[in-house]
Amino acid sequence: MKRIVILGGGESGAGAAVLAKQKGFDVFVSDLSVIKPEYKRLLDEHGIAWEEKQHTESLILNAAEVIKSPGIPDKAPLIKKLIEKGIRIISEIEFAGRYTSSKMICITGSNGKTTTTSLIYHILKNAGLDVGLAGNIGNSLALQVAIDPHDCYVVELSSFQLDHMFEFKADIAVLLNITPDHLDRYEYKFENYVDAKFRIAQNQTADDAFIYWENDPVVSAELAKRKIGAQLYPFAIDRTEKTNAFVEENQLVIQTLNTLFTMPQNELALKGMHNTYNSMAAGLAATILHVKKEQIRQSLLDFKGVEHRLEYVATVKNVSYINDSKATNVNSCWYALQSMKTPVVLILGGTDKGNDYSEIEALVKEKVRALIFMGLDNTALHAFFDDKIQKISDVQSMDDAVKEAYRLAKAGDTVLLSPCCASFDLFKNYEDRGAQFKQCVRNL
Ligand code: ADP
Repeated sequence: MKRIVILGGGESGAGAAVLAKQKGFDVFVSDLSVIKPEYKRLLDEHGIAWEEKQHTESLILNAAEVIKSPGIPDKAPLIKKLIEKGIRIISEIEFAGRYTSSKMICITGSNGKTTTTSLIYHILKNAGLDVGLAGNIGNSLALQVAIDPHDCYVVELSSFQLDHMFEFKADIAVLLNITPDHLDRYEYKFENYVDAKFRIAQNQTADDAFIYWENDPVVSAELAKRKIGAQLYPFAIDRTEKTNAFVEENQLVIQTLNTLFTMPQNELALKGMHNTYNSMAAGLAATILHVKKEQIRQSLLDFKGVEHRLEYVATVKNVSYINDSKATNVNSCWYALQSMKTPVVLILGGTDKGNDYSEIEALVKEKVRALIFMGLDNTALHAFFDDKIQKISDVQSMDDAVKEAYRLAKAGDTVLLSPCCASFDLFKNYEDRGAQFKQCVRNL
């Protein structure tokens, strides 16, 4: 019996294990940390062998194939050993793709993945399609393929998942944008990260669709070099001859060979330029899937947004508080600042991933009244901003950050949490950071 070893017993690993077991493999799950009780239960229910808090090499290096959680870096010693031995390492999505012929709508990009994935899912669900939501957003594709199959799936893909995908094909691929992120996992080589993102289009044929942002300098430079098998569907604010979704006279327009869809831009549920891009990408995907115009319009209009992404929290003494905790890189903070219409008190900082803050320098100078650095180590932030911005405070907890923001903000301002950084120095994760922010604001 072919042995499949799964590294990482989280959502994707446990799901892959269930599918592999169902398909008759000899399955073993190994996790260096503690496996959550819900996943232990799932594995036990299916009679799958597992271990936690260790990797027993004798039980792993005899695998025919390994399915690796996207959280485990390629430079982990065990992964290096597997590579040396020539054992193929794939992602859970690649594995799941082998056992389904359902339509795959896949979304990647440096920013906007979760928002766009949720929006496409919302449109398709409202249109009555039998659709599953999967991937990086937090639901295992493999588990759904095994026990709750759907006609089509909307799959959020991170570069780490794409890194280990080979044969999988997206029927519709969406590439939102590419800006530097996670470079620590790509040997600080931007091109490695770009290559990972472009794997979303691999294996596509003329029957498939590739939706992308036409004005992204990285994406367009790559498209000039690469051959994409799919039909191309570019979106942009300003149209060129080939643009399929754009804004004209305050209308969002989607135009393909067979359809012309328009709706007023100010009716879109999601505000801000970046969200207009996300709405265009989602509208294009739905149009390609022949969803009725009326249904697309309704869903773009009534979508509720996703928590921790430019999420309005409250107004206190005429100052509004916005939670953008998911802004874990500089580019997403740029879009947040760009969409602000009032002076801003900006809370930023955390675990720096090698950030270049020059990208937000002009917007900070134009819009920011005060900066609040919230991190264990604010050195990089000080090095960049100290000679550029007058008002800077240092804090080491959310409570202090919100109190300081409250003190510094003037009536009519916006307090924006858009940290540019990961959260792991002071918080469990970005959700924890956002939840603490909201709680502290409500306590004001
Ligand atoms: P991801 O899943 O790629 O991290 P999210 O939808 O969770 O993306 O959004 C992450 C952050 O990026 C949020 O701060 C959000 O406001 C911002 N954002 C959303 N869409 C875009 C976009 N198209 N371009 C740039 N930033 C975006």
